[in-house]
Amino acid sequence: MSKVHFDTIALIGIGLIGSSLARVIKREGLADKIVISTRSEATLARAKELGLGDRYTLDSAEAVKNADLVIVSVPVGSSGEIARQIAASLKPGAIVTDVGSTKGSVIAQMQPELPANVHFIPGHPLAGTEYSGPDAGFADLFINRWCILTPLDGTDPDAIAKLTGFWEACGSRLDTMDPLHHDRVLAIVSHLPHLIAYNIVGTASDLEEVTNSEVIKYSASGFRDFTRLAASDPTMWRDVCLHNKDAILEMLSRFSEDLASLQRSVRWGDGDALFDLFTRTRAVRRGIIDAGQEVDAPDFGRQKAGQPSK
Ligand code: NAP
Repeated sequence: MSKVHFDTIALIGIGLIGSSLARVIKREGLADKIVISTRSEATLARAKELGLGDRYTLDSAEAVKNADLVIVSVPVGSSGEIARQIAASLKPGAIVTDVGSTKGSVIAQMQPELPANVHFIPGHPLAGTEYSGPDAGFADLFINRWCILTPLDGTDPDAIAKLTGFWEACGSRLDTMDPLHHDRVLAIVSHLPHLIAYNIVGTASDLEEVTNSEVIKYSASGFRDFTRLAASDPTMWRDVCLHNKDAILEMLSRFSEDLASLQRSVRWGDGDALFDLFTRTRAVRRGIIDAGQEVDAPDFGRQKAGQPSK
């Protein structure tokens, strides 16, 4: 594993992702100094209480002044605003990156604002939970998770190598991708599943003949697994939907066609079609487990009541 080191890293946004970065940077000794900036006084005060950085400020321009690496970890809809705030204060030669879940829109918002003498390398760690804020982060979040960089044409290879080394030191596996391809891939593996979860949980909470207490009481039958995704941060997911609109609409329309075909199989009692689909999907899960992206334990490896923790 190649280890890199920065004099100063500025973290703009200190929620789940920003605070996980702060923790792993400190643990792995990836910087001499961590400067933290966030929008609200309350979050900044909490970051300070948790001892996540070395310097704290509400002024993002002030935060980036001497930073060799700037990591923007805010909802994607706010990326342009942050780029405008920091642009004039960036140190020449600094690497500026982000962690946003959409890439085409973040590039369109940030690139025009940033000066030519910094290395802007958009990124996206495919690691997260349904929790948010500085308390939610943890240093192991990125271990064995993919981080996708979507560098623009002409980006300095040394800067890409340095950022790659940084994410590797955080425990990530690295890939590079074209930004629009990234957005299509993420639309199917992340954005669509979240929308389906938001929709099914919304439908269940709207059903009049099934009471809320029944939904909760019998949730372990399958519903519960959707509620984890549907508990994800509303601001983050609103922004993802608004900023990856085309790819999400394309995947939603394919999903709707396939759902209509499934509906037909159920209506006409086409057991062979149902069996074939369910066999194919089971193999997909096997592949995910074999790739180390899920544990091979029943019920998502959940601990049962009374079972000792390992
Ligand atoms: P989070 O826990 O909700 O934290 C968001 C941070 O951004 C907070 O510091 C917040 O500041 C700040 N912020 C919010 N709105 C802002 C605005 N309008 N202007 C400036 N700062 C603002 O979010 P997160 O989960 O870390 O997500 C951050 C980014 O990572 C998002 O772009 C998301 O798409 C991406 N991402 C998330 C996950 C995940 O699973 N959560 C995974 C991969 C990538 P205050 O608290 O001070 O208001």
